[in-house]
Amino acid sequence: MRHRLLVPGAAALSLLLAIPASAASFTPGAPGAGDSYYPESGNGGYDVSHYDLRLKYQPKTDLLEGTATLLAKTTQDLSRFNLDFGLKVSEVRVDGAKAKFAATGAHELEITPAAPLERGKQISVVVRYAGKPSEVKIGGYTAWARTPDGGVAAQEPDSAVWWYPSNDHPTDKATYDISVSVPDGTQAISNGVLASQTSKLGWTRFNWRSDKPQATYLTTLAIGKFDVTTGTTENGTPVLNAVSKDLGANEGAARASIERTAEVTGWLESVYGRYPFNAVGGYVPNVPAGYALETQTRPFYGKKAFDRGANVSVVVHELAHQWYGDSVSLKDWKDIWINEGFAAYAQWLWSEKEGEGTAQELADYVFDQHPADDPFWTVKPGDPGPDNQFDGAVYDRGAVALQALRNKLGDKVFFGLLKSWPQEHAYGNASVADFVKFAEKKSGKPLADFFDTWLFQPSKPSAGAARQALGARGTAPAPRPASWPKIAATHTIHQG
Ligand SMILES: [Zn+2]
Repeated sequence: MRHRLLVPGAAALSLLLAIPASAASFTPGAPGAGDSYYPESGNGGYDVSHYDLRLKYQPKTDLLEGTATLLAKTTQDLSRFNLDFGLKVSEVRVDGAKAKFAATGAHELEITPAAPLERGKQISVVVRYAGKPSEVKIGGYTAWARTPDGGVAAQEPDSAVWWYPSNDHPTDKATYDISVSVPDGTQAISNGVLASQTSKLGWTRFNWRSDKPQATYLTTLAIGKFDVTTGTTENGTPVLNAVSKDLGANEGAARASIERTAEVTGWLESVYGRYPFNAVGGYVPNVPAGYALETQTRPFYGKKAFDRGANVSVVVHELAHQWYGDSVSLKDWKDIWINEGFAAYAQWLWSEKEGEGTAQELADYVFDQHPADDPFWTVKPGDPGPDNQFDGAVYDRGAVALQALRNKLGDKVFFGLLKSWPQEHAYGNASVADFVKFAEKKSGKPLADFFDTWLFQPSKPSAGAARQALGARGTAPAPRPASWPKIAATHTIHQG
């Protein structure tokens, strides 16, 4: 571009004088963050540090009105940049000045500030918007679930575009203040601590605060009528659970499960170290779905997760994610084992503690249950591909790999790893390769071949490898541990 400014003539000369010499280096930010599974997710050119969301939601009409203020720092000289968003925008300001904007691609909001932005600059971006989230369809799909008394945003890997503009990739985490106004008698549940609640002229405003870095897909909003219980964990973390008043026969089982949250958090602290966030809890809205999600500080549980009665195992899974997935987040969606392998293994450890089957018995059961020609073994937990990202094998085979690692390193080193990984990577991002390096460093053993066998080969590990990693094999398949049905239910919950 620069050479065009050197064309002789008065017009070109005045142009040259009007634009700083460095102008040619100002380029658009990338429309994606470079994820290997979801190239359009997130954006390039800036890092968000804080989201301030001021929202108003009317359950009767599904109308969501909002003003989002994003604080960010540019990471390149920017002529323009993108946010990810699906609702209709009426105004955008960058550093207080009106900016041009356009909706492009599947979910891109392209913003051109009045003046280009230099690299390393702190900026504020204000987006005013309104729309009905249930009407936003991306590839024919909506992540917003309307309920009889409100609506819920809780989906993986994407849910933010249905309710607030963001840099929608787990590598760009930020703190949040989420303020939501709803008609009196209705509640708004979100992440972190309920800092305040006020009522005026028929509307109640709930102000939620998350003061530690939080990924966009782990940010949740639920509007409806809930029974709320509060308390504290033994270590003093505030607990807030919310159960819809509209769960019918599942209400008791839902409550009996999530009311174990403080106890489970305390047990997980004994395994993983101090809980990383300012609050904990869970919520069960009247969403006719069976999946659960580790939304930060306040996991989401679909109503159908409790069709067969209470399930504490799923609570263990989602709370284990607070360390493995939420505090230490993946770098790329291909690193999903960093989340799911460890959350599944936490359920195995809970089973061991409860006397319902040891992790070794669960590993033997899973290994023997799937013969070598079972497609189960074609899924590589270390890089399963976008279509198999939440396949049962990522959980089960992923947890078998951890039991094999435990046997290889011994309990002392293995449990040391489980505790030091979330401490040393707290609030950051990490890959499967980072974990392999970390385990090698902490154990002093070469582990590349071991992880290749258990996480990266599209085939069942050989009988010899199994003997070495899981111990002597019997001739009959290992029996089913008592905890298995509830653990298995969690997988179908996730695939829901
Ligand atoms: Zn999970």
